[in-house]
Amino acid sequence: MPVWINKSYIGRFAPSPTGPLHLGSLYTALASFLQARSRHGKWLLRIDDLDTPRNIKGSADSILKTLDAFGLHWDDSVVYQSQHLGIYDEILDKLAKNKLVYPCSCSRKTLTAIYSGLCRNKQSPRNSPYSLRIKTDERIISFDDELQGLISHNLALQHGDFILKRKDRIIAYQFAVVIDDDRQQVNHIVRGFDLLESTPRQIYLQKTLGIATPGYMHVPVIIDEQGYKLSKQTRATAVDVRTPEAVIFGLLKLLKQNPPRELQHAPSTEQLNWAIDHWDPALLKNSRAISSGFQ
Ligand code: GLU
Repeated sequence: MPVWINKSYIGRFAPSPTGPLHLGSLYTALASFLQARSRHGKWLLRIDDLDTPRNIKGSADSILKTLDAFGLHWDDSVVYQSQHLGIYDEILDKLAKNKLVYPCSCSRKTLTAIYSGLCRNKQSPRNSPYSLRIKTDERIISFDDELQGLISHNLALQHGDFILKRKDRIIAYQFAVVIDDDRQQVNHIVRGFDLLESTPRQIYLQKTLGIATPGYMHVPVIIDEQGYKLSKQTRATAVDVRTPEAVIFGLLKLLKQNPPRELQHAPSTEQLNWAIDHWDPALLKNSRAISSGFQ
């Protein structure tokens, strides 16, 4: 039974401040908002701003303003990962004491896609840059995604010992997300299909740290005419905040919610209220990518 079933629902949206919100991220935000609100749950907002070289000045504020303009109001205060950097290091120290993480100074050249554990038993020189990796084993990690069904990965074979802290001293996404979702007591995660591959690693970390595993729902990603995921890399344009009702109506169609035509020109708050009452994520079952069609 999923852990959240007898508890009140706490969901979240956790964008990285690497540019303004584009249609693809607003789509995920809307799905996670509707899922939380339809369960009378909380919807938290966290800015994942640890990867400082990728951060773009001003984008965190612009993301908050855009969500507000679309009526996606969050609960509690916004959490910024960069505001509690000490916590990650404390937990890393504990893992190191238990010999679960180790330093690795392998260069990109010696690295293959799946790390072989070369530095596991080496005394890595601490005077050259090193990353911290967690030891994995051949355990199968499985979870039942609400839309994508049963997912099983063999961590050692499919991912190898993965990085918790990078050589540039930046805390890796896989680790930070697990710590923060737990700190915020998030018990249900709705996010894009592109992150499905990361989930078994995060569940492995939860198990290692004795943290409860939330429920997961990976919604399809929005793709452009060439089949590429809308992202900052593909130069997806920022959503147009001047016409929230057109954008929300279009997104509800992309979420396969079949909004009634009479709602097309209604204020976005009215559209959102309809969507909360009628939210049926099962209509997205097994779908991994959806073509935007409108922009
Ligand atoms: N910050 C991540 C991103 O923007 C998402 C984190 C998550 O939902 O787990 O891609």
